[in-house]
Amino acid sequence: MVQHEPEISVLGAHLERLQRQHLYRRRETVDSPQGVELVIDGRSFLNFCSNDYLGLANHPQVVEAFQSGVLRYGVGAGASHLISGHSRAHQALEEELADFVGAPRALLFSTGYMANLGAVGALTDRRGTVFEDKLNHASLIDAARLCQASVRRYPHGDLGRLQALLAESAGKKLVLTDGVFSMDGDVAPLSALTELARRHGATLLVDDAHGLGVLGAGGRGSCEIFRQPVASPLILMGTLGKAFGTFGAFVAAAEEVIETLIQHARAYIYTTALPPAVAEATRASLRLVRTEAWRRDLLRERISQFRRGAGELGLRVLDSATAIQPVILGDPDAALAAAAALRQHGILVPAIRPPTVARNASRLRITLSAAHTASHVEHLLDALARLPGLPG
Ligand SMILES: *Cc1c(COP(=O)(O)O)cnc(C)c1O
Repeated sequence: MVQHEPEISVLGAHLERLQRQHLYRRRETVDSPQGVELVIDGRSFLNFCSNDYLGLANHPQVVEAFQSGVLRYGVGAGASHLISGHSRAHQALEEELADFVGAPRALLFSTGYMANLGAVGALTDRRGTVFEDKLNHASLIDAARLCQASVRRYPHGDLGRLQALLAESAGKKLVLTDGVFSMDGDVAPLSALTELARRHGATLLVDDAHGLGVLGAGGRGSCEIFRQPVASPLILMGTLGKAFGTFGAFVAAAEEVIETLIQHARAYIYTTALPPAVAEATRASLRLVRTEAWRRDLLRERISQFRRGAGELGLRVLDSATAIQPVILGDPDAALAAAAALRQHGILVPAIRPPTVARNASRLRITLSAAHTASHVEHLLDALARLPGLPG
């Protein structure tokens, strides 16, 4: 057998190459709670890169529910759901989430990433075929790889191509799509996708990480705006770390789907349940999501304000009506320079570069929140107007 040398020196060379190509990623250490202002290294920044779309991550009622959850249940869940980690808090949250999205049942997962891995793995196998929009979130891409099914990717939103691919494959068919695409902010055509899935005997899994809580008068997300019930052939995956401001995720579907996940989803079975206090906090945030529609109204106002202003500046924004508002700059270096210049103005906006997006589609990815005020958005627009080298 050939013996290989440890390859740590190769890793070092690879990391240096990433640095030279300006593709090296670094973390920021935040000293404040999540909110529209973040404190980093003693300096306060205006935050336009959070997924806390409704301003619930540090809401007093959510914090209080978390604290009383800890007093009642302690911190750790202690085990997986199937052993002894499934608490009354988890059970109650699952029932409330199912009721919220109008599904027969919901099943909690520890993260959205794991929910996608678990659901895709449980619903197909190596004889099946998984269909993916090219712009799907990495967790959906990884889920299909892990389950070893054949994978067919269709160009973003190209339903004609999807139809052709569905027609030419046999066996179990599972179509995966983001509800709101995480880098472009556009919405998947769920009515047409559901119809296509139905016609070809396929199942449709919608990952609504960025739609749930935000879209629709009731906050029920992409399914609400397309009036699609969470019923066969559609399965919904929602995350709790974004608009809900807490942590975790769930899959909502028909009874048999949920029972299948409990039996077969490895990312459900072989992991510790999320802390019960997080479930209690999420129950509080779900109540706010349901009852405080004014948060969605405010967010919509900020989105319109930003789009109006960006249009006046001649910025290249995408056709997004959601909280995700990318400004396309093209070159990765241009995106990096713009993000650095905004940071100088005390504004945090991430530069999104390859491999997350195509090389010529590097961008600033601005995310808006109901917690932003009109003057926060004005401040951002002023700073964008002063960026060197931008059109406008
Ligand atoms: C954030 C995100 C996930 C992952 O959810 P986590 O709970 O953060 O693991 C999955 N899909 C999409 C589209 C996302 O944006």
